[in-house]
Amino acid sequence: MSDPSTSEESKPIGVPVPPIAITGDASTATSVIEAETVSIPDNVRRALESACGEVNDDPAVLADEGRDWWPLAMIWATEGRVPARASLLVRPGSPNEVADVLRICNDNHIPVSPSAGRSGVLGASVPLFGGVQLDMCRLDGIRDVDETSLLADVLPGTFGNVYEHTLGDAGYTGGHWPQSMDLSTVGGWLACRGAGQFSTRYGKIEDIVVGLDVVLADGTAISTGGYPREAVGPDLNQLFVGSEGTLGVITGARLKIHPLPDYRRQAAYSFDSLETGLEWVRSVIQRGARPAVLRLYDPLEADRHFGTGAERAAAVVLDEGEPAIVDAYMAVVESAANDHDGTREDDSIVDSWLEKRNEVSALEALISRGFIVDTMEVSGRWADLVSIAQNTLEALRAAPGALAAGVHCSHSYEAGACLYFTFAAESEPSARQLNHQSIWESATRAVLEAGGSLSHHHGVGINRSRFVADALGGGMEVLQSLKDALDPNGILNPGKLGLSSPFGTYSYVG
Ligand SMILES: Cc1cc2nc3c(=O)[nH]c(=O)nc-3n(C[C@H](O)[C@H](O)[C@H](O)COP(=O)(O)OP(=O)(O)OC[C@H]3O[C@@H](n4cnc5c(N)ncnc54)[C@H](O)[C@@H]3O)c2cc1C
Repeated sequence: MSDPSTSEESKPIGVPVPPIAITGDASTATSVIEAETVSIPDNVRRALESACGEVNDDPAVLADEGRDWWPLAMIWATEGRVPARASLLVRPGSPNEVADVLRICNDNHIPVSPSAGRSGVLGASVPLFGGVQLDMCRLDGIRDVDETSLLADVLPGTFGNVYEHTLGDAGYTGGHWPQSMDLSTVGGWLACRGAGQFSTRYGKIEDIVVGLDVVLADGTAISTGGYPREAVGPDLNQLFVGSEGTLGVITGARLKIHPLPDYRRQAAYSFDSLETGLEWVRSVIQRGARPAVLRLYDPLEADRHFGTGAERAAAVVLDEGEPAIVDAYMAVVESAANDHDGTREDDSIVDSWLEKRNEVSALEALISRGFIVDTMEVSGRWADLVSIAQNTLEALRAAPGALAAGVHCSHSYEAGACLYFTFAAESEPSARQLNHQSIWESATRAVLEAGGSLSHHHGVGINRSRFVADALGGGMEVLQSLKDALDPNGILNPGKLGLSSPFGTYSYVG
């Protein structure tokens, strides 16, 4: 069964989609992030040109490539500013070219910021210290499908919609459906530890990956994993999943795939409150059901998405696959809803969710009109989830200029779930940057104090770097030691993930 929202009306595929136009002339747009930038000496440039046919130093191109969907960067774009520019854009066309580029940069202490779809929402691919921006989009396509083991061997620059269309033509699905399906790549999913909307059945990307090809900072190419399970030390796949380009560059991946399902069921429910709804989700999961989509919206978000009247929380459930399993899961969903006084609502709510689930235009429209709009996804144990939701909403609603803050539960597990907050605020134009930062400060502190994680699937980037040490505690030193061992010159995506950078520090202008 192909997905209705990504069938033939799909946009041009396989290229980054810019978040918002840069006001004015992009080639003269000023950089907001102030840091000592590394330029490329002529001999290094020549070496990079011969290692990799595609390099570019056009200031307008570098301005566009140096930003992603980080809402703060979108705000800057409306002011004719960009986060930062690399000194040179390099677009390798093969894993060997990636290795050559990294070897040259490592020998010459040039920072390298990998980027792909640039759909990250936290500035993770921004080249903070100049140097090389390593655009991975030319490494695209599926190299092989192992139809017996149900594994696809895919190149990292493959965009989500290209991946799914190609698999679909062969009768398979990858099952990974981020809202940014058309905007993001396989390498970006892995580097950010992403989650798709059907993750309860198919898993988060760390559950989907079986093996990786990675090029280390010094140009050494390695392969990790490759087996359904193994006991040969720690899982090295997971070392690179979520490392946001700081520990190695992913040049290939073996991902689980599934036969295209031809049976699907769906249902919608409402509950008297978010709290009751969360108890229902917990019950569904802890009784063993895993419907692909199990999403619960607080009354405010339910009304915004489905026009339900802001009185009750609303839930969307969808499953696909083997009829016997789908029917069993949907029976558990229904029985748990009865236990929690859930009301069965019209299925059109699910249809409406399916239709609009990959729509991304609202963000651009609101930011262009001067509002601060952003999202924050975290996870927590069931025991802490209600406090995390309440404390964070309170912090978001107390922020200067706050207009609205809502939450939904988008991904669930035996031990807990993901809470996804959406917020909007109004602000004097000159104060938008500071207000955005202060909203993140108070809401993140509220999450961490209530026992939540820093992120569930968007990652860290620049925006959350300042919180990583608090979130990881003693683990931060372990992460830094790994970084120092794998990348002693610190060239890979410096300034990200809260790691120290040999290229210095950075600050914001204005
Ligand atoms: C509207 C919208 C909706 C979104 N919805 C979701 C969602 O449902 N689920 C979700 O998980 N995320 C979502 N995101 C966030 C974003 O799409 C993901 O983080 C995505 O995984 C980023 O992929 P990308 O190719 O765009 O990577 P980029 O933004 O280009 O890069 C992100 C990070 O990955 C690193 N990187 C990229 N490629 C490689 C590589 N080959 N090797 C090493 N490092 C690499 C970069 O250095 C950077 O640190 C959404 C974003 C937007 C704008």
